[in-house]
Amino acid sequence: MCKNNNFYKKNFIFKIIQNDLKNKKYNFICTRFPPEPNGYLHIGHIKSICLNFFIAKFYKGNCFLRIDDTNPTTENIKYINSIKKDLMWLGFKWDGNIKYSSNYFELIYEYAIELINKNLAYVDELSIEEIKSYRGTLLLPGKNSPYRNRSITESLKLFRNMRLGKFPEGRMCLRAKIDMKSKIIIMRDPVLYRIKFQKHHHTGKKWFIYPTYDFCHCISDSIEGITHSLCTLEFLDNKVLYNWILSNISIKNYPKQYEFSKLKIEYGITSKRNIRLLIKSKIVDGWDDPRLLTISGLRRKGYTASSLKNFCYHIGVTKQNNIIQLSYLEFFIKKELNKVAPRAMAILRPLKIIIDNFPVKKKIKLLIPNHPSNKNMGYKIIYFTKEIYIDILDFSEKEKKNYKRLILGKKVKLRYAFIIKANKIIKDNNGNIIHVHCTYYKNTLGMKIDKKNQKIKGIIHWISCSNSKAVLFYLYNNLLKKKNINNTDNILSYINKKSLQIYNGFIEKKLLQEQKKQHFQFEREGYFYLDKKYSNKKQIIFNQILSLRKS
Ligand code: ATP
Ligand code: MG
Repeated sequence: MCKNNNFYKKNFIFKIIQNDLKNKKYNFICTRFPPEPNGYLHIGHIKSICLNFFIAKFYKGNCFLRIDDTNPTTENIKYINSIKKDLMWLGFKWDGNIKYSSNYFELIYEYAIELINKNLAYVDELSIEEIKSYRGTLLLPGKNSPYRNRSITESLKLFRNMRLGKFPEGRMCLRAKIDMKSKIIIMRDPVLYRIKFQKHHHTGKKWFIYPTYDFCHCISDSIEGITHSLCTLEFLDNKVLYNWILSNISIKNYPKQYEFSKLKIEYGITSKRNIRLLIKSKIVDGWDDPRLLTISGLRRKGYTASSLKNFCYHIGVTKQNNIIQLSYLEFFIKKELNKVAPRAMAILRPLKIIIDNFPVKKKIKLLIPNHPSNKNMGYKIIYFTKEIYIDILDFSEKEKKNYKRLILGKKVKLRYAFIIKANKIIKDNNGNIIHVHCTYYKNTLGMKIDKKNQKIKGIIHWISCSNSKAVLFYLYNNLLKKKNINNTDNILSYINKKSLQIYNGFIEKKLLQEQKKQHFQFEREGYFYLDKKYSNKKQIIFNQILSLRKS
């Protein structure tokens, strides 16, 4: 758990729980994380997961994982598996068995019958469009359905026949009888049950009717003995319905709903619907594309579970809607990897350097630390040879303002090795540089750098050609061009076409064998992680987690 959780524990939800315990309203706290299995979890969900699991752990209560599976049309078993995997990866263990809303279908059905018997629900035969148009607007009250006053007996009979699959989808539905003139639109006779012939991943073909989210959620919370039902702000209006349902059925536990603001990240997408759209449009390579803020995408990119949790504990929980900078999320992984990631030199955009005054067959062994400040991480051997690669961005034909790298006719220091001077450029017919001829200064190995005296521009990284291994580097940029995406925005019109750039470069030949880790800081470039999905014996791919490049 986060060291700074003292700050986290000051959030308003802890205060509510603290009060409830003090006033003896509860003596055991129970929360739940209730994802709908219609997609993979994303960073927004981590905020909710951290909150629910942290509270349960802190108050020695329970936190359940409830799969909120009331809509067989969009739900799928593969999503349930991914939810379990992601939660375990984050290091959270739910209490007891996994709960499924669908386990309560029989009970929920009985509560619907109870509402009909109390004349608080009726079977409506208006079409979906008619229901919508009868509902009114924020300014206009709704209109009663002509079926609203049908007898209890008739509604009971129709509802039972709905369950038996005697009517086609959309032909009728069960609605609560509340108030078509209510100021809260959700209270204008909300739908409680609809007909669906879709096979359900858990209950198979047993049911032809399915409860709506609003009807199912509060009852599920109550059945499980949830004390504090925590959800995001858009459910504020639903709370009135949540309370209406629970107070009108004969149920024992009466949980209370509390809302907090959703997590949003600049230029990022935290909506399953939009992620699905990107996958369908082939803009990303699936739910685990490293450009997405899904847990699986962040994991593949190289984020650790602890960095994501620390991020969530630091942003806290409030009722204020705000948007967090991506750099804040990066701050936590950078802080963590800075301590533990081995350093290595890698060349993303190779430019060959030939050291004219260095013998062809000679190689000089150099012992260099795996980490500049943690000597416990040990040392490794690299070689200096006649032909080396540097990054093409580290070479310029002409003098440029503030350019502290290799310039034709000038000197630069190679990290851990010698000072070299660029003498001559070899170009192809199109004017592209093929390689650069340099000379090295034999006595400068291990020499203390004095830029002025030695007339060197700066220090750059390099790699020996004969001691290198070809790999691919995947560099990521924001997926969107718009900072703050709204619910109504069509994300397809804000796609950044340059969100992925692939480089054919080199790493030290034995890097992966020698280092047991898969996170690296490639000096001056950034933090990288081995791509587990597409790397194989023939091709190694590194995903960039974040860049350290100034330009
Ligand atoms: P999406 O908008 O991505 O489809 P959702 O709210 O429909 O998300 P659910 O599977 O129903 O997804 O969410 C499970 C829980 O996670 C809910 O309690 C929900 O409030 C919470 N949650 C979802 N998105 C966020 C977010 N961006 N920030 C915080 N909590 C979130
Ligand atoms: Mg939802």
